[in-house]
Amino acid sequence: MVAVRAVRKSYGSLEVLRGVDLTVRAGEVAVVLGPSGSGKSTLLRSINHLEKVDSGWISVDGSLVGYRRSGDKLYELREREILRQRTKIGFVFQNFNLFPHLTVLENVVEAPVSALRRPRKAAVETAERLLARVGLADKTAAYPKQLSGGQQQRVAIARALALEPKLLLFDEPTSALDPELVGEVLDVIKALAHQGTTMIVVTHEVGFAREVADTVVFMDGGRIVEQGPPGEVLDNPRHERTRTFLSKVL
Ligand code: ADP
Ligand code: MG
Repeated sequence: MVAVRAVRKSYGSLEVLRGVDLTVRAGEVAVVLGPSGSGKSTLLRSINHLEKVDSGWISVDGSLVGYRRSGDKLYELREREILRQRTKIGFVFQNFNLFPHLTVLENVVEAPVSALRRPRKAAVETAERLLARVGLADKTAAYPKQLSGGQQQRVAIARALALEPKLLLFDEPTSALDPELVGEVLDVIKALAHQGTTMIVVTHEVGFAREVADTVVFMDGGRIVEQGPPGEVLDNPRHERTRTFLSKVL
């Protein structure tokens, strides 16, 4: 479902992705751990073509992200085509990024109607079903600021699901939440994992990684230092940097 190959990315003179390779199969959950500044967000943003990589390539579900190949050359897609590609990849941010002036229901209805040209009635029905699925059937008429952080993040997840993405990316989805609200959001993500949604989750929640991940990826300094099943990377890390990081977050 996701192939990242030899990806490099710099901001000015700072190289933040220094040759990243990652494979995620359909239905798998990859959890990415690593210290602040190690390039985790840049990697996720590159998979969605919110950042352009300098070299290497990324494909999602068999299509190059942001480019098309012609012979042995890559040509960047037009903005419209990039936006269409992006609708197949859901992105959930740390800070929810809901539209403050729209109700919960309208937050979920908006993209299917505007980006996928779904009939409004069908989009409303889907939104109601998804909001029920994340436990918010009774909040459809509320505005984001009337909700707790955990509820807002569950709306953001429903909004991402409304586009029926083939892949979901989560960038520290619980880092902005009060501790007592973390569990309700992780539970929703866990349920999606058990239903076979392909996802890449950047988080510091090691317990979540242990329980849900098929693959745990440890990044440091713009590189994947090690990756493997949770039992290996979390319980028996091969690299000193992984060990040091885990001893700090556990
Ligand atoms: P992480 O998510 O692991 O904390 P990031 O991918 O956000 O790491 O950032 C990696 C490095 O790239 C950091 O040093 C950060 O300051 C830098 N960086 C991220 N985005 C930008 C940007 N738009 N411009 C310049 N530097 C950036
Ligand atoms: Mg980050």
